[in-house]
Amino acid sequence: MFEKQYDVIVVGGGHAGAEAVAAAANMGSKTLLVTMNLQTIGQMSCNPAMGGIAKGQIVREIDALGGYSGVITDKSAIQFKMLNKSKGPAMWSPRAQNDRMRFAEEWRLALERTPNVDFYQEMVSGLLVEGDKVVGVRTSLGIDIKAKAVVLTNGTFLNGLIHIGEKQFGGGRAGEKAATGITEQLSDFGFESGRMKTGTPPRVDGRSLDYSKMIVQPGDSNPEKFSYLNTQKLTEQRDCHMTHTSALVHDLLREGFDRSPMFNGRIKSIGPRYCPSIEDKINRFADKDAHQIFVEPEGWHTVEVYVNGFSTSLPEDVQYKALKSVVGFESVKFFRPGYAIEYDYFPPTQLKHTLETKVIENLYFAGQINGTTGYEEAASQGIMAGINAHLKINEKESFILKRDEAYIGVLIDDLITKGTEEPYRMFTSRAEYRTLLRQDNADLRLTPRSFDLGLAGEERLKRMEKKLTNSDKFVEFFKTTSYTPEEMNPILEEVSSATVKQSDKMFKVFSRPKVTMEHMLRLAAVSDFVNEHELDTEVLEQAEIQVKYSGYIAKEKNNADKLLRLENIKIPDDFDYRKLKSLSYEAREKLEAIRPVTISQASRISGVSPSDISVLLVFLGR
Ligand code: FAD
Repeated sequence: MFEKQYDVIVVGGGHAGAEAVAAAANMGSKTLLVTMNLQTIGQMSCNPAMGGIAKGQIVREIDALGGYSGVITDKSAIQFKMLNKSKGPAMWSPRAQNDRMRFAEEWRLALERTPNVDFYQEMVSGLLVEGDKVVGVRTSLGIDIKAKAVVLTNGTFLNGLIHIGEKQFGGGRAGEKAATGITEQLSDFGFESGRMKTGTPPRVDGRSLDYSKMIVQPGDSNPEKFSYLNTQKLTEQRDCHMTHTSALVHDLLREGFDRSPMFNGRIKSIGPRYCPSIEDKINRFADKDAHQIFVEPEGWHTVEVYVNGFSTSLPEDVQYKALKSVVGFESVKFFRPGYAIEYDYFPPTQLKHTLETKVIENLYFAGQINGTTGYEEAASQGIMAGINAHLKINEKESFILKRDEAYIGVLIDDLITKGTEEPYRMFTSRAEYRTLLRQDNADLRLTPRSFDLGLAGEERLKRMEKKLTNSDKFVEFFKTTSYTPEEMNPILEEVSSATVKQSDKMFKVFSRPKVTMEHMLRLAAVSDFVNEHELDTEVLEQAEIQVKYSGYIAKEKNNADKLLRLENIKIPDDFDYRKLKSLSYEAREKLEAIRPVTISQASRISGVSPSDISVLLVFLGR
């Protein structure tokens, strides 16, 4: 029925699990995916959308590494927007609305097409552990399956408890069973666990809505895409719509507060700060009479609609009555009510940078089990766990991304160094080097490294190399080619910038704030260069960013290099912090618990002050 021993078993086929399977298998590991329902591989549990601010950059990074999330997003997209286009390129963030059913189907088919992947549908109820090493899993039917490494990606399923008003019942997601056994066993091994909460809005019948009363939210007129590979851009898109709650809607919701599990103490755990429920919003922002609601289609052909902004666990009759009072929803019919779910997670300070647990060797955790929220955050941990599980069992050096190399590096470093007590979601503000970590250059940052690991394929590398060579050439062209005042001044006058009296290098004037590539292309020399070299829009965009932001990029690189010096000062594995009495008590406790690998990581632990770092540096002879 099964291989005698797998290289890697991945438990759970959500976003983390699916990427972990793809990475390990594509690198050559014989991989088994055990998941509770093979129909829900890559299931979008909440909103039918990928990307967004900082999350879009993460999807691009996963794609650059050779993961599948970007390709699948492109294949199942129904609308695309580049967010923050009016701000600097560090803030540009791709976002797509997706066809929920197609997204999951594409994931399933992509994994079926991947060599080295076996599938099995069942619940894993425990791990097989010998000494301090994991050697396989046990299923709820009592079947033991052996493996050299195991990746746990249980999402919201561990002892999941669903709440709708006063009703509560076990479940990992609406209509799906909770997973039991794993938390209890890991606790026996000494793991610490906690509870978190998240929620989702009702889904409704689009045929019952009056869109003429809502504001249309179309996609971009020139939609981009996520993958650096040759996936198709959308030629047709579906509109979303926007409407608002009102004082009346809020009053109707308040009528159900005494039956709300959020307010009557039944839900005790902490939910995602930045995706609050509607009852939370009207409670916290009592002075606001209206909140936005985005009405998002669930796919190309289905009539089901996702009511973004109306996440709730109030009783279903209260949800229904209040939603009927929202403009455009007067005749609404429900497909499913909103609900909240509480689930177990494991504080991620119990992990190494590779996502291997510190307590049990060859056991990896990825996704919501680590206290994160969001498909993108989960998928990025999945690919990193899959890569590192493969490398570890092949006795190869681990693959860690630093904070100046990828949002994925920031995410994992934050999790394992600082931990999290509320669902962790990525923001651009969490990255200190966000001018370096842009959505347009994830391939330049990561594809060569992934190719060296044996994950990113040749086509990916070739496309990246072509883009790099062409954009470098184009930047060089701007540095070495001059303009004349006669050709440049009409452009400068148009953008109300000071005119020039003499010829100078194009780079200089292109660096001015309002001068864009569109302007520069009006110069004959520039458009000739583009035509002769057959430069595509990606190269034009890359060259423009390299020219216009060269100062910021150089400054951030310089800062990152300075920090790298601290990154290179390693702390021995067996370092005894308790002996260093000159450290503060709090620092000693935190350092002992987290056991940072480098001085740089130690400096990011909350409670470890600059003077504690000086003490460590002196002790380490620096
Ligand atoms: P999941 O997608 O949950 O997948 C877990 C997988 O593991 C499932 O396939 C399950 O069947 C399988 N599994 C679990 N245990 C076992 C076992 N023992 N044996 C075999 N298989 C197992 N994110 C946001 O960013 N914003 C939100 O507002 C938001 N709201 C949410 C609301 C709800 C109700 C839910 C359920 C999720 C919400 N999310 C939200 C979270 C988002 O869905 C997750 O972050 C993301 O799906 C996590 O991916 P994952 O791979 O870690 O786990």
